[in-house]
Amino acid sequence: MPEGDTVWNTARVLERALAGTRLTGSDFRVPALATTDLTDWTVRESASQGKHLLLRLDAPAGTGESRWTLHSHLRMDGTWRAYTTGERWSARPAHLIRVVLRAPVATAVGYHLHEVTLVPTAEEGRLTGHLGPDLLGVGWDATEATRRLTAHPDIPIGVALLDQRNLAGIGNLYKCEVLFLRGVHPRTPVRDVPDLTGLVTLAQALLAANRGRWTQSSTGSLRHGQTSYVYGRRAQPCRRCGTAIRKEDLGERVTYWCPTCQPGAP
Ligand SMILES: [Zn+2]
Repeated sequence: MPEGDTVWNTARVLERALAGTRLTGSDFRVPALATTDLTDWTVRESASQGKHLLLRLDAPAGTGESRWTLHSHLRMDGTWRAYTTGERWSARPAHLIRVVLRAPVATAVGYHLHEVTLVPTAEEGRLTGHLGPDLLGVGWDATEATRRLTAHPDIPIGVALLDQRNLAGIGNLYKCEVLFLRGVHPRTPVRDVPDLTGLVTLAQALLAANRGRWTQSSTGSLRHGQTSYVYGRRAQPCRRCGTAIRKEDLGERVTYWCPTCQPGAP
């Protein structure tokens, strides 16, 4: 599940593969960029903000605007892979390829990417300016995240935590897990959640703990089937109390919770 930590890791993959290199070719399989050619563009850096990936590039001299950002979003199913140039791409089916960036040593392939856009770096804010504090950003600000959450007190906390305008980087897995760890029912209105700042601080710690690895764990265990308390565990016994974990729709997503450890809402 691409959440903030996965996107952060992906940004590092692209940074290692491409930063500082001049591209020898590109291939965009999204209509809006079908004629775009990044040959001779130099990759400046790769960054993430919430769940948005930002690959910053320098255009060749004489192109006009010199600093550009290739934006992409992974949503539920997108991924970027880096291959040694000449290596066979085998990770995912070819029809899912949206972007290919070729460099002398590495080739980066973006599969099933969303919102692929090329904008002047100075205009990045059009794409990310709405985001709340980035849980894995250098400027992470728990107080500001709390302020944004409490501005809409009637929203269920299980919906509010996924709204990237409040805080950026939490996806469904960490939402379910952090609410379990805090003993909060996902339907609890924001105004009734005790110590919101403590909750968002714990969410930040969960994401930060999973930076640098691809297995997402909230339990501390990396063993298959042991990595979550409630997420993906419908009808299985709660690891704390043995009650069967519940699953139901909440907003546009499903949510998992333990009715004993997270009481309070119908
Ligand atoms: Zn329980």
